[in-house]
Amino acid sequence: MITANNISKRFGELEVLKNINVNVDTGKVVVIIGPSGSGKTTLLRCMNLLEQPEEGTLTIDDQTIDFHGKIPKKSIRSFRRLSGMVFQTYNLFPHFTARQNVMEGPVTVQKVGKQDARKKATEILGKVGLGDKVETYPHQLSGGQQQRVGIARAMAIDPKVMLFDEPTSALDPELVGEVLLVMKQLAEEGRTMVVVTHEMSFAKEVADEVIFMDEGKVIERGTPAEVFETPKEERTKRFLNLITE
Ligand code: ADP
Ligand code: MG
Repeated sequence: MITANNISKRFGELEVLKNINVNVDTGKVVVIIGPSGSGKTTLLRCMNLLEQPEEGTLTIDDQTIDFHGKIPKKSIRSFRRLSGMVFQTYNLFPHFTARQNVMEGPVTVQKVGKQDARKKATEILGKVGLGDKVETYPHQLSGGQQQRVGIARAMAIDPKVMLFDEPTSALDPELVGEVLLVMKQLAEEGRTMVVVTHEMSFAKEVADEVIFMDEGKVIERGTPAEVFETPKEERTKRFLNLITE
């Protein structure tokens, strides 16, 4: 379970997130959509503590952080392990093989023994369909394969929630499907997921809730049918018209 309550974040003068509330129950999937610059990435980064909001609380599983006040580095580290982030541009280590990329988190963050981490990484890479690519370096993989390594890496620390930031938007169209398929499998396994994406068919099939953000605010939320088929807000309608043209 993840609950972000009244999250507000500014970069200098710019208010990027204004009182955002998001709740994802265990095993549910929330899809966030919205125009570029609306604060989607910043919200995910706040959930992963790569950014710290000025206000609000964040609860993952049984741990809560109140951002009002100073947060000890130790709490940030332990809290960050609760979520696994999948980035738009994969962010793999180029000098590490697929397996080394997946082992890195468990070995350095969780202090898992190399032997065990290696075994587990091999297993997870098998799950995302890369069992024959464990020794391969990122530059030898297609974008879709690299992103599946990115997903495997996020899974490796056994996160309570997985965060996806437009995971298919950097991919050639023919490679999008293989990544969405892996994400669908994760949803079916009952993982708790927050997904920023404009892949409508994925959202319709997999999301329990869709949230539309604009200018740092939640404008509208509901089931995929409610938001996509009978949006209430003008801004939502305009945005949906743009992306479905
Ligand atoms: P989205 O992911 O919806 O496109 P972002 O969260 O990336 O939106 O950005 C929201 C706003 O915050 C944008 O105006 C962006 O320029 C600004 N922003 C993002 N990161 C920073 C940063 N590190 N410093 C200053 N401004 C930032
Ligand atoms: Mg973004």
